[in-house]
Amino acid sequence: MKLARFDRGTDKGRIGIVTGSQIVDVTEAAGVDPAEWPPVGPVRLLAEFDRLRPALERAAAAGTPIDLAEVTLLTPVPWPNKVIAYPVNYHAHGAEMGAGYRATNQGFFLKPNSSLSGAGEPVILPETPGREVHHESELAIIIGKGGRNIAREDWRDHVFGYACLLDMVVRGREERVARKAYDTFCPVGPWITTADEVPDPANLQMKLWVDGELRQDANTRDLVLDIPGMIAMASAVMTLYPGDIIATGTPEGVGPVQGGQTIRITIDQCGEMNVPVVQGTGGSTEIFADPYQLVKKS
Ligand code: MN
Repeated sequence: MKLARFDRGTDKGRIGIVTGSQIVDVTEAAGVDPAEWPPVGPVRLLAEFDRLRPALERAAAAGTPIDLAEVTLLTPVPWPNKVIAYPVNYHAHGAEMGAGYRATNQGFFLKPNSSLSGAGEPVILPETPGREVHHESELAIIIGKGGRNIAREDWRDHVFGYACLLDMVVRGREERVARKAYDTFCPVGPWITTADEVPDPANLQMKLWVDGELRQDANTRDLVLDIPGMIAMASAVMTLYPGDIIATGTPEGVGPVQGGQTIRITIDQCGEMNVPVVQGTGGSTEIFADPYQLVKKS
C-alpha cells in the first residue's frame, strides 16, 4: 500500500491511498482529523494500522480516484516522536568527505520534526552567504511497531514502510544538528510504501539529479551499518515509536543546490520526488558567519 498525506484546494492534511497516478481520500477510514493539532493522527494511524487496514482498503476501492496532479503531497508523518539520522553510512561518501569515522562507531544524530516537508513542497534555502547547502539522497525507514532493545533478527517486525528522503545540510564544521535543522531541510515522500511491497530493502537503487544532472547513484546494499543494525543501534539507546523516521545515510555525490533548481530523487519501489529549491529571505545567523567550502576527496 502507498499511504500519502495531501492538500487538495481548501481540503488540508488529508490521508490518501495511491494507485498508479491516482489517489483516493481515505481520511475518514484512517480515523485522522486533519484539523487536529498537534497533527499526531498519522502516528496513531501507523500504530493501529493492522486493525484499520481492511477499512482502508474498502475505502480505497469505494472512493473516487483523484489525479495526483490535482493534489499537493505533504510529508506523510508530520509529527513523529523523532527523526533519527545516520551520518557517513556509505564508504564512498565517507571518502569524499574525508571522514575518518563511520555510522557503525559514530552513531546517529536527530533532525527536528519541524524540518519535515513533503514531495509537493519546496526546499527553502536560508540566507547563508559563503555557505553551500547540499543535497543528501537517503532511504527513509518508517517505524511501525515501537520497541526498545530490538534484536537485529527482529528488525522486520518494527518497520512500517519506506520512503525517499532528502537530508539537506549547510556544509561546515558547526553542530551537525544546527546545519541540518532549517525548516524544509527534510523532505520525505512522495508517500510511505508499506514494507510488504519492498521485500528486499537492502537492494534498492537510489538516484538523485539536480536539474537533470545525475549526481548520486548508489544501492542500499552498500550501507555500512545495515538496516537491522540501524534499528538495533537506535533502539539500544532510545525507545522507538510508531511513525519514527530513520534517515539511513547518503552515498557519494553530495553537492550544492541553488534557488531555481529542482532536486529529483528516485528509489526503487518507493517512488520519486521532484522538489523545487527556492532561495528564501530569512535564516541568517552568526553560526554561519564564516565562509566554508567543502573540498571533496576522491
Ligand atoms: Mn545524511
